[in-house]
This record gives sequence, structure tokens and C-alpha cells, in this order.
Amino acid sequence: MILAFTEHVDGAPTALALEALTMAHRLAEEMDTPLESLVVGPAGATAAGILASYGVTTLHVADDPRLDVYAPAAWGQTLVELVEESAPALVIGTASDRGSEVMAHAAARLRLALAANCIEITPGDPLLVTRQRWGGSLLEEARLKGEVKLITIAPHALTAEPLAARTDVTTRTWKPVLPEKDFRVRLRPEVQADTGKVSLAQARVVVGGGRGVGSSAGFVSLEELAGYLGGAVGCSRAVTSLGWRPHSDQVGQTGTRIAPELYIACGISGAIQHMVGCRAAKHILAINTDANAPIVAQADYAVIGDVQKVLAAVNAEVRKVKALPVG
Ligand SMILES: Cc1cc2nc3c(=O)[nH]c(=O)nc-3n(C[C@H](O)[C@H](O)[C@H](O)COP(=O)(O)OP(=O)(O)OC[C@H]3O[C@@H](n4cnc5c(N)ncnc54)[C@H](O)[C@@H]3O)c2cc1C
Repeated sequence: MILAFTEHVDGAPTALALEALTMAHRLAEEMDTPLESLVVGPAGATAAGILASYGVTTLHVADDPRLDVYAPAAWGQTLVELVEESAPALVIGTASDRGSEVMAHAAARLRLALAANCIEITPGDPLLVTRQRWGGSLLEEARLKGEVKLITIAPHALTAEPLAARTDVTTRTWKPVLPEKDFRVRLRPEVQADTGKVSLAQARVVVGGGRGVGSSAGFVSLEELAGYLGGAVGCSRAVTSLGWRPHSDQVGQTGTRIAPELYIACGISGAIQHMVGCRAAKHILAINTDANAPIVAQADYAVIGDVQKVLAAVNAEVRKVKALPVG
């Protein structure tokens, strides 16, 4: 059996969880074994409808009111309990912040190896994996041994693909045995930033700004273009370090990983830690004064020029095409 640890928001699996389930289902087919899923928290039971399109046959819902909010050790112990009782051949999670943390807790407690950030998996014993290291700048081929193998799937390593035929999902709800000490670290209330805007992780167009934008006020032209294109504004770490934008806007290794159709990178040099976060973009357009900036070599299109002048011209054209008043 393959067990997928499925992250969800109020019962809706996250986009990354669906990618991991797609990989898990492919492996389950190759290994001719069932795919089961763990969701934590009572709201997870509603995930069954979506999981039926990803080949899941059994949904394990860990139900304890204390699990309603995120508590890394308790969530990890929940996974440990299920692994110990069901002995899956493989446990697959996402390499999101939360997925990585829960899987690491489980691996440490089970004393099992965990291969993080995998992009390819070949079944067998040992299991062969290709995984991203150093923020994706290096690909490592590794062999994983052990009765149970733990794996996280790198974000955007593949596209989530629901199946044409739905499975019948059996839902099993149980209360794991969790000591109070596993709740010493718990998430305090979560504050959602600017819910009216398109989220960076989901946006089809992202207009990102770097140090070359010049100031926080310089982002007005990026906001304008993102608004016209129904997109979101992102930024580099130089920008968050300067306090021009909040960390929630940061794209990269220590920020959000984006996968838009188009990423417009304005005044961003293209450091490896930034590119890790935008390499899943289908197309990159760089606007930069320096034709030798690393991002120019990695972009599909580049405009060499001052970002504010270029954006002023682009916004004016878009306004004309959309017949909008001067913004
Ligand atoms: C552990 C670690 C984690 C990190 N994580 C991240 C991360 O998650 N995300 C991230 O972004 N970085 C991250 N960094 C930082 C990263 O290494 C770079 O320092 C950062 O990305 C640079 O930001 P930048 O491109 O905006 O600035 P710079 O490197 O200073 O580049 C500015 C660019 O703007 C251009 N420019 C200047 N003026 C103009 C103008 N008027 N018009 C057009 N172009 C102009 C310049 O030619 C240059 O290419 C991390 C670093 C470390 C060590």
C-alpha cells in the first residue's frame, strides 16, 4: 500500500497535495498496490470527493479537536501511528513547509530515511529517486532502503492530473493517541493577508519586482500591470529585506514557489535562490538595464531598459487596448 499524507484547507486538498497524489497514484499503478490517504482534522473527511478522482481507495481521517490547528509534533505522531498500524511500502507527502515538517517529524520518530524534494521515483528495492538539492541547482540520484520509505515531492515537479474514472473511497475516522506534550508547539490564529487579491502561488501572471524597481513607491506601476492582467505582484528577497514589500510577496527558495503562465521579472538579477521560486513559470519576461544579468539568459523574452520607463509604456499600451482611463 502507498500512503499519501494529504494537506488540505477546510477539506480541499492543496494544489501541491494533488501533485503529490498524482505521483503517488502513478507509483501505485506501477507497483500494483492500493493508494490510501491520511488527512488530519475532522474537516478532512470532505476531501473524499476530490480524492476519488486521484485513485484513493481508503481515506484515513485523524479526528481529535486538538488537531484542528497545526501542531507539527502531533501531526507527525498521527502519521507515525498510521504507518505503524498499516505498514505502507511508501509514504508520500509534499515538500511544502508543512509537509516537510510533518514528514521529518514522522521519519525521526520512526527512525526511517526520508528523501526530500523528489521529482522522479522508480519503484524497486532499493527505490531509486531523483531529488532536487541546493534549491534545485543540483539533481541527486539516490537509493532508498528500508521497509517503509518516506518521500516528499518537490513543488511543481509534475502537473496534477485527475483520473477519468473515480474510485470508491472508504472513509475511516479514528482518534490517534496523542500525548499533551506533542501540542507544545501549536499554530496561533492564522491571519490571511489581503484576501481580495489573486494569490501569488495560484496566479496565472506574476509581475515581480527587485531592487531595480528603486523604492516601495516604484511598485505602483507593477501593481497597475498586474491589475490589468489579473495577476499578482511578487518580489525578490532584496526587496523584502529593504522593507519595500512584505515577506508574503517574496518569490524564491525562502519565499513562495510560483508556477504562472507568465512571470514578468522587473529589475531582478536572477540569483539562484530567486530562480528556484520561479523556474516552474511557463514563460519568463525580464526587464532589466543590464543585458548580462543572469535572469536575461534564463528568460524567454527580455527588454533591456529602465523598468519604470518600460512599464509606463506597457501600461499605456494595455490601457489603450482595454480602452481604460489613465490610472
Ligand atoms: C539562504 C538564502 C536564501 C535566499 N532566498 C531568496 C529568495 O527566496 N528569493 C530571492 O529573491 N532571493 C533570495 N536570496 C537572495 C538572493 O541571493 C539575491 O540576493 C536576491 O535575489 C537579489 O535580489 P534582486 O535581484 O532584487 O537584487 P540585485 O541582485 O541587486 O539585482 C537588481 C537588478 O536590477 C537591475 N536594475 C537596476 N536598476 C534597474 C532599473 N532602473 N531598471 C531595470 N533593472 C534595473 C540590475 O541590473 C540587477 O540585475 C537568498 C539568499 C540566501 C543566501
